[in-house]
Amino acid sequence: MNFEEIIKEVYEKKKLISDEGQLADYIPELKLVDPDKFGVYISTLHYGHFGIGDCYDRFSAQSIAKVFSLTLAYSILDSKTWERVGVEPSGTSFNSLIQLELEHGIPRNPFINAGAIVICDILLSHLDNPKEDFLAFVRSLSGHGEINYSDKIASSEKKAGYRNVALCNLIKAFGNIENDPVDVLDFYFDLCSLEMNCEELSKIFLFLANDGFTLHDQRQILTRSQTKRINALMQTCGFYDESGEFAFKVGLPGKSGVGGGIVAIHPKQYAIAVWGPRLNAKGNSYKGMRFLEEFTTRSEQSIF
Ligand code: GLU
Repeated sequence: MNFEEIIKEVYEKKKLISDEGQLADYIPELKLVDPDKFGVYISTLHYGHFGIGDCYDRFSAQSIAKVFSLTLAYSILDSKTWERVGVEPSGTSFNSLIQLELEHGIPRNPFINAGAIVICDILLSHLDNPKEDFLAFVRSLSGHGEINYSDKIASSEKKAGYRNVALCNLIKAFGNIENDPVDVLDFYFDLCSLEMNCEELSKIFLFLANDGFTLHDQRQILTRSQTKRINALMQTCGFYDESGEFAFKVGLPGKSGVGGGIVAIHPKQYAIAVWGPRLNAKGNSYKGMRFLEEFTTRSEQSIF
């Protein structure tokens, strides 16, 4: 399988398209990112690694980090996780409040903001030093210790994250948040501020393509069954109300973030990370979506 050649060709082609997306502007610090950055990195189980473009520049992981928090919470609570958060696509935007009121504070899934906030609450209740322990967990997945939170991004979002404050308080009112909402939100904003590059992201996500085992130290992070379930959730809920479209056009489980990153995995094959900061109307990377669509078409590597 010659991934390198296909990636090079598709990258050069997509680099030239007119990018119709917009930078996320509701987090002021994200508006300062160079909108034309574009990078891709693939880590495979059998055919090596390859990166192109701005794949070594770190950017704001944002909602991609929700996969790591869910993984850690799931490894602690196992199926009890699903008593606090559902496993259904929401069909609404990532920061919507509407369903929460109707469904009594149980978020539809762990990848919409409401669900990720509940997962943060679970971690706060189970970790001695949530911020430090979570960072250590992410670093252990990546195999090196340089990954960090961004104070600038976190404080920018803390100042402007009114919808998340509303979500957390509404869930608390329904009794589905155990800790002080101030502490839960503080942890949530820090988690979203994690900075990583495409190489790091694709290497970290490889355990989801490898039955729950890290590649660098063969450590089991999740059971095989838990791994399949995280992948099922990424497939059905990883792109908010564009999850159907991503399955339709790309055909891989994946997760996006408003920093412009997308990571997708092919079970038993690879993890691929793409970064293009301009977002489409649904909050997903415009170029990233276009790149992955053509990549899976050309490589004939969708899971379907
Ligand atoms: N920190 C962002 C927020 O809460 C994450 C959203 C995303 O990446 O989709 O709104």
